[in-house]
Amino acid sequence: MSKKIEELKFSGEWDLAPAPESTNHISVKKEYQLFIGGKFVKPKKGKYFSTINPATEKKLSSIAEASKEDVDRAVKAARKAHSGVWSSTSAKERGKYIYRIARLIQEKSREFAVIESLDGGKPIRESRDVDIPIAAAHFFYYAGWADKLNYAFPNQNPSSLGVAGQIIPWNFPLMMAAWKIAPALATGNTVVLKPAETTSLTALKLAEVIQEADLPPGVVNIITGAGATGSDIVNHKDIDKIAFTGSTGVGKIIMKSIAGTAKKSTMELGGKAANIVFEDAPLDQAVEGIINGIYFNQGHVCCAGSRLFVQESIYDTLLRKLKDRMQSLIVGNPLDKNTDIGAINSKEQLGVINKYLSLGKKEGADMFQPSCDIPSKGFWCAPTLFTNVSQSHAIAKEEIFGPVLAVQTFRTIDEVITKANNTPFGLSAGVWTDKGSKVFNLTSKMRAGVVWANTYNKFDPTSPFGGYKESGHGREGGLHGLAPYLKF
Ligand code: NAP
Ligand code: MG
Repeated sequence: MSKKIEELKFSGEWDLAPAPESTNHISVKKEYQLFIGGKFVKPKKGKYFSTINPATEKKLSSIAEASKEDVDRAVKAARKAHSGVWSSTSAKERGKYIYRIARLIQEKSREFAVIESLDGGKPIRESRDVDIPIAAAHFFYYAGWADKLNYAFPNQNPSSLGVAGQIIPWNFPLMMAAWKIAPALATGNTVVLKPAETTSLTALKLAEVIQEADLPPGVVNIITGAGATGSDIVNHKDIDKIAFTGSTGVGKIIMKSIAGTAKKSTMELGGKAANIVFEDAPLDQAVEGIINGIYFNQGHVCCAGSRLFVQESIYDTLLRKLKDRMQSLIVGNPLDKNTDIGAINSKEQLGVINKYLSLGKKEGADMFQPSCDIPSKGFWCAPTLFTNVSQSHAIAKEEIFGPVLAVQTFRTIDEVITKANNTPFGLSAGVWTDKGSKVFNLTSKMRAGVVWANTYNKFDPTSPFGGYKESGHGREGGLHGLAPYLKF
């Protein structure tokens, strides 16, 4: 790289020509119905809500709002499909259907990726290279388990639970739907799934795929709506299991509602992960990992590395490198292939993030944001870094769910383990060091479900995912992800 280019890069003046992904190959309908019993049906009360593109604030489509009666229709369709067809379909056949869904997602991956970015605001590079491939990979992976349950759980003769109610958030819409539906089908359950209000489109596209895959009617039902629809699913008497991914606050409400019932549950909730950099870490790699850990998907990631702990001796060097790298991040059009940071998912979420930016400054931390152009319409937040942060600051304790990093320092390994574990959450963590012994020491003492070493935010269907403490209970992914859908 010539000196001139090097200087330009670190002064943030890269001027890349726009490289927008085409939208010619996608079709978004004006209005979407509920997917119940294998058919798209109108909501009983005739109510619809709008979904918008958060990068432009333009309306994309009208989405049906499911009422209590619609939830009941969906649960009845799922129950009928479970007792009538799915529980007696051979495991090998079940596997074939799941495999077919995986293939169809793969075939339509360009369409899925663009719709995901339009509806949710995430950069196309992420929906194209992360969300959609991982969603397909989950269906492929669980298709393989369907006829091997007796090997997975020898001498236990597992059987399905029945009807699973599944409620998912807006940060990885199709991926979360895949994490929920694939293991449920592999274990012989039927499903009623509700996507988040702001990101229903790819779940509805998935409903079209499920129809195309010829899945028996009622095995998967996808109903749209807001929190009230989610609550109607949770409280429906004929649901056997609730699989929820979302905030700790709503997770607690759900746990209270199902307490004392026979409903089983898995809860994948919030996080406040520690990303720990030791003085012997490869610093340039660590900087990339820190950036990926918190600015990936606008920080709308439950396992985001939102608390950075840097060993004192390398603090100045690391911070300089990190700020330089932040300067080169491109914020803007999610459909542009060069974009690093897309739109914040909703006006409400931008309000939450801005509240924390003010609070961080008010509590005495120093805020840094690189100079970057931000579009005038839509919801945006520049990548943000806070230094001079103490453990008691709200930005160090609470989940912000935005591109906001709180930096703290440490001297010894015991000190950083104590600081990192000082949180009600326990979903994930990261460690950067040259020494395997430090990695093992740390991973055995960190109270976090996932600990990444010298990398961050990597997901794989074979690997279980889930948290401790207020980050929830139960695991999704891998062999572990099958058990919560089975009775023994
Ligand atoms: P949220 O507000 O808790 O919503 C999650 C889902 O629950 C949405 O579909 C929502 O519907 C629905 N819902 C809202 N109130 C409900 C109620 N009373 N009963 C039943 N369902 C209800 O969370 P979010 O803002 O969408 O997502 C962000 C949160 O998810 C963060 O805290 C993040 O850490 C967490 N998350 C965790 C994981 C994990 O694996 N641990 C993964 C991703 C995200 P509406 O959207 O229509 O309100
Ligand atoms: Mg939207």
